[in-house]
Amino acid sequence: MRPDVLNEYFKDISGLPGIGKRTKLAVERLAGARTRDLLFHLPVSLIDRRFRPKIKDAPAHTIVTLVVTIGQHQPNANKRMPYRVLASDSTGELSLVFFHARPDYLLKMLPEGEKRIISGRLEHYQDRAQITHPDYMVDPANPGDMPDLETVYPLTAGLSGKMLRKAIHAGLERVPALPEWHDKALMAREGWPDFLTALKTQHNPESAEDLAPSSLARRRLACDELLATQLALAIVRERTRRKRGRALKVNGKIRNKLLELLPYQLTGDQQTALKDVTADLENERAMLRLMQGDVGSGKTVVALLAMASAVEAGVQCALLAPTEILANQHLATIRPLAEAAGMKVALLTGRNKGKARAGLLETLADGGIDILIGTHALIQEDVVFKDLGFAIIDEQHRFGVKQRLALAAKGQYGIDVLGMTATPIPRTLTLTAYGDMDVSLIREKPPGRKPVDTRVVSLDRLADVANGVQRAVNSGARVYWVCPLVEESELLDLAAADERYASLKAMFPGKIGLVNGKMKSADKDAVMQRFQAGEISVLVSTTVIEVGVDVPEATVMVIEHAERFGLSQLHQLRGRVGRGADKSRCILLRAAEIGEVARDRLKIMRETEDGFLIAEEDLRLRGSGEILGTRQSGLPELKMVDFTAHADLIELARDDARLIIARDPELEGKRAEALRTLLYLFNRDEGVRLMQSG
Ligand code: ADP
Ligand code: MG
Repeated sequence: MRPDVLNEYFKDISGLPGIGKRTKLAVERLAGARTRDLLFHLPVSLIDRRFRPKIKDAPAHTIVTLVVTIGQHQPNANKRMPYRVLASDSTGELSLVFFHARPDYLLKMLPEGEKRIISGRLEHYQDRAQITHPDYMVDPANPGDMPDLETVYPLTAGLSGKMLRKAIHAGLERVPALPEWHDKALMAREGWPDFLTALKTQHNPESAEDLAPSSLARRRLACDELLATQLALAIVRERTRRKRGRALKVNGKIRNKLLELLPYQLTGDQQTALKDVTADLENERAMLRLMQGDVGSGKTVVALLAMASAVEAGVQCALLAPTEILANQHLATIRPLAEAAGMKVALLTGRNKGKARAGLLETLADGGIDILIGTHALIQEDVVFKDLGFAIIDEQHRFGVKQRLALAAKGQYGIDVLGMTATPIPRTLTLTAYGDMDVSLIREKPPGRKPVDTRVVSLDRLADVANGVQRAVNSGARVYWVCPLVEESELLDLAAADERYASLKAMFPGKIGLVNGKMKSADKDAVMQRFQAGEISVLVSTTVIEVGVDVPEATVMVIEHAERFGLSQLHQLRGRVGRGADKSRCILLRAAEIGEVARDRLKIMRETEDGFLIAEEDLRLRGSGEILGTRQSGLPELKMVDFTAHADLIELARDDARLIIARDPELEGKRAEALRTLLYLFNRDEGVRLMQSG
């Protein structure tokens, strides 16, 4: 149950002043439906209206507040021309300019001969000071009608800053202070204000510094959010590990056979990762590990060797993949090796139906399958193992904690869980998203990998690029052509891909296919399979090919409007080529005009193929929100945290959370009630629920 002290925080915003039906929808879209959501919608900057020069001294391009006497109104018969109102002080003249003016309103607001306080951005136009559409026109008798300092919020259509501020301030009046959840020593050391004071400071800053990520108030709020996130993760970790009782007895029999079958030696990083994983298997505690490594770094083979160790020890393994095509791919790589080493492998996807499915499930329950590879279909309730001991989740970030736990629940004991991801993310982000997991990194590429020749080319030269692709196709190359990502509109994405497909079709008759996110997965798979089989040579797509598809024969990757992609996303896409024996190319088509940051970012792509380095640089240049295609990233959405400025707090929160749970696993101690409040406040209460369900 949510603590009562949070009731006001979780009230629907419709009770707040100024929130009508339509505003409510706008606020909901922007922030959320509860008072808490509104209060967590922090201002991004501050307008200072305390600067009150005389007209003569007022600088251009600046927000100024002027006390003036209103002069003549100059309406304009031509509707497209502005309505002007003259004004003056002892030092000079000023024009107030209005487009699409309503004369009666202006006559009321600005009566000729009277004094008014005017605030807004001043510009010079034909040697005269003017303010177009002033932000405030206030009677000096009511100076309170204009705030000295004004917070600026991200807005959306149908919402004004004024409305938002009014509702937020009313909300702040209603919510109570909360019990302190942070450690006393930490609070003393950092000198942080309490939670509500910190929140109030953000909405009523006294200076721009109050809003800086480095301000005490902001750091405190960031740490609140991080602690909530980490605490929820620590609870999941503790629960996952609690249901334990089994140390697997690895003897190396099957694994060594496999090692002999492999035509290559493991790289150093692969060996280290395998050692980490094996140690976890042998340990009494349940493994909760993430194996991070670039596409093609050789995670799959490590996973296979680890599964062999588990099978030796007498348990079954599950390998969960996010899509059918990936599950099939795993089956194709794993089965020949695994069976040669004496393991039984099967595939379970949504396609298995009826009798065949029932038969497979029966074999599984009898222990006749050692390794079951599959999609979400693996998690279905009637999928019962004889003795599941080890689960691997490929592309872990595509799955939630819930799915991980559902799979883990299929073991009679606490099972070992290994997540894999080919999305290199900076350490700070890894901690935030996977703070509950131990991490093994595979940075080293298998030997003999040829670098991908990466070029940045202006879209002006699209025709040249298309001709080059045509030459490559004529000599047998297979080509990915990725279409621009259009922000916030899947429909536009699709249109762009359709259009490109249409325009390229004539150049590659019968040799070109299209996949996009709107297609049914069976249709998508069919096109991809034709590409894989070489029946078509050019695959035009939106970013749906991003995850894990393996076509070693593909040697050319064209990405349109590369500047719109996150670097990690570009890196992922580029990883689709350079997998075979032939030399590969990646052509990043960029808009003709791009800014400096965009230029720097693309330069990094040209200079390195180290995914971790790319991710760190991207974080530095653009901030976390942009690191990954946001929805795919699996990263929790954090409102208060700046991953660069608050990097130290991430580690601090992680350590604190683990310590709290180690000392007080049931959250019953003195700090516990406050900590539960924190979890609810930041919607991390799944952690609490998990605790109650045991
Ligand atoms: P990932 O799963 O990380 O994308 P894979 O395990 O699919 O990478 O490996 C990519 C390719 O590299 C596969 O064809 C695999 O056989 C090969 N490979 C893996 N490890 C090595 C190694 N140590 N030396 C040479 N080739 C390797
Ligand atoms: Mg793989």
